[in-house]
Amino acid sequence: MNKLDAQRQKEIQQAEELLFAGPQALGFAKGLFQGHFVSDWVMPYPRVAATEQSELDQTLTELRKFLNEELDPAEIDRQADIPRTVIDGLGRIGVLGMTAPKEYGGHGFSQMANCKVLEEIGRRCASTSVFVNAHHSIGIRALLLFGTREQKQKWLPKLVTGEQLGAFALTEKEAGSDAANVQMQARPSEDGSHFILNGEKRYITNAAIAHELTVMARTPVPGSDKTAVTAFLVTPDMPGFEMLEARMPKTGIKGTATGRFALRDVKVPKENVLGPIGKGLKVALTVLDFGRTTFGACCTGSAKTCLELAIAHANTRRQFNKTLGEFELVKKKIARIAADAYAMEAMTTVTASFIDRGLEDYMLETAMLKVFTTERLWECINDVFQIYGGSAYFTDLPFERMLRDARINQIGEGANEVLTSFIALVGMRGPGMEFKEIYDTMMKPSRDRMSKAWAAGKSRLNATIRVPDVPVQSEQLRAHARQLGRLIRRFNFAVNRALITYREPILDMQLIQERIANAAMDLFASTCVLSRIDGEIQLARRNGATPSPDRSAADLFLRQSFRRIRGFLAGLTDNDDKAVIAAAKSCLTSGPAKPTS
Ligand SMILES: Cc1cc2nc3c(=O)[nH]c(=O)nc-3n(C[C@H](O)[C@H](O)[C@H](O)COP(=O)(O)OP(=O)(O)OC[C@H]3O[C@@H](n4cnc5c(N)ncnc54)[C@H](O)[C@@H]3O)c2cc1C
Repeated sequence: MNKLDAQRQKEIQQAEELLFAGPQALGFAKGLFQGHFVSDWVMPYPRVAATEQSELDQTLTELRKFLNEELDPAEIDRQADIPRTVIDGLGRIGVLGMTAPKEYGGHGFSQMANCKVLEEIGRRCASTSVFVNAHHSIGIRALLLFGTREQKQKWLPKLVTGEQLGAFALTEKEAGSDAANVQMQARPSEDGSHFILNGEKRYITNAAIAHELTVMARTPVPGSDKTAVTAFLVTPDMPGFEMLEARMPKTGIKGTATGRFALRDVKVPKENVLGPIGKGLKVALTVLDFGRTTFGACCTGSAKTCLELAIAHANTRRQFNKTLGEFELVKKKIARIAADAYAMEAMTTVTASFIDRGLEDYMLETAMLKVFTTERLWECINDVFQIYGGSAYFTDLPFERMLRDARINQIGEGANEVLTSFIALVGMRGPGMEFKEIYDTMMKPSRDRMSKAWAAGKSRLNATIRVPDVPVQSEQLRAHARQLGRLIRRFNFAVNRALITYREPILDMQLIQERIANAAMDLFASTCVLSRIDGEIQLARRNGATPSPDRSAADLFLRQSFRRIRGFLAGLTDNDDKAVIAAAKSCLTSGPAKPTS
């Protein structure tokens, strides 16, 4: 086996271990790749339970008052620090333990309600929302999900109030996007009482202010020379814990403390292992599912701020004897921000509901949410920046800070390129396996294989012929629903064709993968929008409200999203991929190996 094949084998083995262990339910996104519309995942549009809603409303009122009075995002940016008074206030309101069970002092909120809280913070200050995410969405998440009763009783009460803070430490020099390549070592002691951890972590949010860090390190796999990642609960008072850099100077979200630390022969008791030994990557990815959902909520909040600011300026600033809002090219930007903000909220709510309903395997949907909302937010900020013209460029307005802050979103918790490729490859695995069954049978027919290949062939054929039903309640949405169904069939057809045309090399064809993933993301986003507007129309009808809710933003989103999907699918056959690869190859082989200045 050559080096490349060995690397591919390793990647496949890791992916199999991580993603495909055990029987898989057909979730919404995987269903799309099979040509199905798994309607019970996405319809009717989920709502926070009535019993929880009043508690949520109360929390939001308290939170808004606190943020309006105590939170100064510009000052946080200038000082590159979130004041302790803000952290304490968030703790008091319960934000730092929103989803933790009440028995440990948490609020016991659902993920949907938690997302509303994060949206509110994301509206105002990205540093603060990232801080809360690092602590609550990922920092203490492994403890919440995988901790034993003893671990929870010991650690959670102080963490959920904010008296102590949490962090999540996966990234290292050699393990960035390639998260499975963690090098930090955890050697079991001879008496089995503890593990000895050695290595360095970098880019860790809250590292220098955390009292508890969920740290990923490699442990030996018994009976083999292999190692696997395990999650540990580490505290900075453990001898050998060394903070190398507490606050790395950075572009945006300056209020957060992003640090580097080393563990040198740190003895971590075996009682501090989180989850099963050797299953740390699974722990990490499950934790990140939660982080990506609240990422979506924070981006939604920020997009809503963009919309408010854009409207305010477009209605007041006059040029050529007109308000800016009277110009079509300004209207276009405002309409797009409104449409995207509507979709981002819908997608966040639907994805959060998967977690609350305890559905199985929503990793694709959380990845889609993260990529989609972070890319759209970047566009929203760019649009509102443009509407403010020269004034946006000066630091008395928030736009340059918003741009700097938003830039991390496309990189953190999985770079968007990595997630895009992941969405396409994991999504295509289902139909890919069916094609493999058919292909293997044709090459080596056998009675056993024939029946499996027949089932696989029938499933592929069915999906190609049938337009899936998109069951909306509202008559006025039927045309959109039918169009969505037809696009899902077209998508499935395109996926099949790509798999048949490219076969295994598709694993490396990221330009093809990107179009497939983009189309899938827009299909998911459109579904969430359709579900949301359907829910709003039905609710208004039940309450006898007239007129019917304003559908213009949802309508625009669906039209634009459907157009994008058609474009992505057309690009699968009509593209410049060969020229792109050739130009990049020429640059990469002729250019300097290091920057010249
Ligand atoms: C402010 C900040 C806070 C952070 N907080 C935390 C934290 O709390 N905990 C934690 O564990 N980590 C944290 N991180 C780390 C973050 O998750 C990583 O930076 C991210 O995963 C990318 O890894 P990398 O920086 O090593 O980039 P690299 O892996 O070097 O990737 C660089 C770029 O290469 C491209 N790329 C890489 N792989 C592929 C691929 N397979 N296909 C196509 N393109 C690819 C992407 O465009 C990517 O952006 C933080 C980072 C920052 C900047």
